[in-house]
Amino acid sequence: MKTSAIILAAALGITGADCRASDIAIVHARIYPAPGVATLVDGMVLIHDGRIAAVSDRVALPPGTTVLACDGCVILAGFWNAHVHFVGPQWLGVAHLPPRTLERQLQQMLTHSGFTSVVDTGSDPAVTNELRRRIERGEVAGPHIRTAGLPVFPAKALPFYLADLPSGFTTKVGQPASPDEARDFVARNLAAGADITKLFTGSIVAPEQVQPMRRDIAAAAASESHRLGAIVFAHPTNLEGVRIATASGVDVLAHALEDVHGFDQTEIRDLARRRVTIVPTLKLFAQDRNIQEIRRLVLRAHRAGVPLVFGTDTGFLADYDVSEEYRQLSLAGLKIDDILAMLTTAPAALFKTTSHQGRVAPGMDGDLTVLGSDPKSEGVRAFSDVRYTIRAGKVLFDRAHPEADQSD
Ligand SMILES: [Zn+2]
Repeated sequence: MKTSAIILAAALGITGADCRASDIAIVHARIYPAPGVATLVDGMVLIHDGRIAAVSDRVALPPGTTVLACDGCVILAGFWNAHVHFVGPQWLGVAHLPPRTLERQLQQMLTHSGFTSVVDTGSDPAVTNELRRRIERGEVAGPHIRTAGLPVFPAKALPFYLADLPSGFTTKVGQPASPDEARDFVARNLAAGADITKLFTGSIVAPEQVQPMRRDIAAAAASESHRLGAIVFAHPTNLEGVRIATASGVDVLAHALEDVHGFDQTEIRDLARRRVTIVPTLKLFAQDRNIQEIRRLVLRAHRAGVPLVFGTDTGFLADYDVSEEYRQLSLAGLKIDDILAMLTTAPAALFKTTSHQGRVAPGMDGDLTVLGSDPKSEGVRAFSDVRYTIRAGKVLFDRAHPEADQSD
């Protein structure tokens, strides 16, 4: 046993001095390396120095490795949630909150559901940038965050449901009245730390009333974002919002349509041809009268080859349980491997990080979501049965030892 450990350590280039407690391993696990790839029924994953060092059916660990309890757990690549927001009073004062408070909040909102990477599709940069800075400096254990910074709305057409947000946020968001103003806003937003651009091509200004973004303004915003290397998300709402988005070169629809009226196979083929990704956020529409039609649209898009990526609008939705999203995706007709792709390989492809994210394989980032049960035998509910969330070899969430609630 000892000899084999030394041999493996040597093969991995790990010297004695490198065998720190920060090496972690999970043994006797079922491993799904990627959607459609053969399962390892009784395998181990070793993470060294923040990266996956070994995926094997042999149990041979460098000395000093921390072995996480598993008993029948299932290892998947770290999950993405490509539609979240950091809004709400708990995030104010993020610069001064104790790390443990922020870790508890991140667990409650995101990492208890296995998310190692998230995309904030619009929040106050004063909050998200500071939260991200503290995570990346290692002060706070949290997920990898990409952000849209301040979203862009049609001029004088903020969605009615933003009325509850602090005016400090709603006065800062983009409402360009001309293509020049749109380019200028997008460039400043990206320079201030945003990674993507978010356009409301259909803004719900009142219940049942949608204000479209002017096409020349949407096109100017999208092309400026692309020129600066940032992909563009859109909130389309209805058919007109989709058409403005596609004509402008938008890359991602941040929701399925809530008004599917007039949306036919021609539109779906157009999305597929342009490789526009959809983040369905079905839980958001679960109570809508037409949820069945929305689910049908998502399945037709999937069958036509439109890439789908997982996202929930968590943060805008104050209920952080994502099991309903899995249930809705399953009701739509998506299979376990389709949903696993939405959580792992599809977002990595969208953000061009497939060389180091999205699969459980040696050399990849040490980002893992470890479940207590197997989606392939237990169904989609197993996706929310999260035991560990691990990012770069650091345990962000351990169900047996959650961050204690503090009375602060
Ligand atoms: Zn949202």
